[in-house]
Amino acid sequence: MEACDPTKLSIVLPCYNEEATLEYSIQTLCATIDGLVEARLVDGGYCVVCVDDGSTDGTWTKICDLSKRMGHVMGLKLSRNVGHQNAIIAGLEHVARQCDAVVTMDADLQDDVESIKEMMLKYRDGADIVLGVRRNRKSDSWIKRHTAQLFYGLMKNTRTPVVPNHAEYRLMSRRAVECFLQYGERNVFLRGIIPSMGFRTATVYYDRAARKYGKSKYPMAQMLNFAAEGITSFSIRPIRLIFFVGLVSLFLTVSVGIYVLVAILLGRTYPGWASLILSVWFIGSLVLVALGIIGEYVGKIYLEVKHRPRYFVEATTAGCNSGEGGGGAEEIAGHTK
Ligand code: UDP
Ligand code: MG
Repeated sequence: MEACDPTKLSIVLPCYNEEATLEYSIQTLCATIDGLVEARLVDGGYCVVCVDDGSTDGTWTKICDLSKRMGHVMGLKLSRNVGHQNAIIAGLEHVARQCDAVVTMDADLQDDVESIKEMMLKYRDGADIVLGVRRNRKSDSWIKRHTAQLFYGLMKNTRTPVVPNHAEYRLMSRRAVECFLQYGERNVFLRGIIPSMGFRTATVYYDRAARKYGKSKYPMAQMLNFAAEGITSFSIRPIRLIFFVGLVSLFLTVSVGIYVLVAILLGRTYPGWASLILSVWFIGSLVLVALGIIGEYVGKIYLEVKHRPRYFVEATTAGCNSGEGGGGAEEIAGHTK
């Protein structure tokens, strides 16, 4: 394929009870992509895949109706609600072999569709992953803004590789999608996994609008759940914390021991008090340290069972004995542009 050939693009939209917004979202999205087709950035055969994540309203009927009326739209109905992350994966698995690049975004189109053009340009420039990052969080409520800040702080402390203010709006090349699909884990946190995959990654900044139709599916409880999932899916640092708390507690036991000694010398004790208080501190600390050591092994097992791919090869040079001199670097895994 020549460098200037239009890219075969797919767009994956996870939809959970999005009946109210789909007409607007699909019309707006297709109008934008049609513009990119005219600009010869995107191939005319692009596909918008709406993944119905077990909706309980008329979302599926709406998707069927849209796909009948618009050739670029297709639906994928999941048998039950499996969550935002899994719905995106279902879409990615479906389109991985049909396109050169995939854009994932929320069905409510809060993320600026116009940024797809910039994403395409960065992809054509050689990026395998283009992350959509919000310029600010002005469109969020006070509580969402502050919990998000806390969330990113926690992520940083637990060494979870997230990019602040990047959610599920991103472009991935076909080979990035194929590599991503090698992750077999069930506890998925896309915005941690994808930036940690490597490959050439670019960023596009955009302003996030407020939701036009329908309601948010992420109330506070869901968000806390998601944050806990994010941290535990990547980091075993919280387990390590137990061990350090145990060590601090052992250190405090020594201080308590000194205090007890002083109390004995001053005669301010009752029979049995000193041995009891020291045993409580000492045994408590030992239990914590022991739990920390066991936790360290459990953490290793946890990372092992995820069975994450060890590496991805990004490029190779020409093979040995393949002609005069060496060759330049060759991209592998079908990064077609
Ligand atoms: N979503 C989903 N499954 C769920 C919850 C949400 O597929 O169980 C989709 C939802 O339809 C939307 C996206 O995930 O396309 C983000 O949800 P939402 O816009 O409600 O989140 P917010 O923008 O409020 O954080
Ligand atoms: Mg939204």
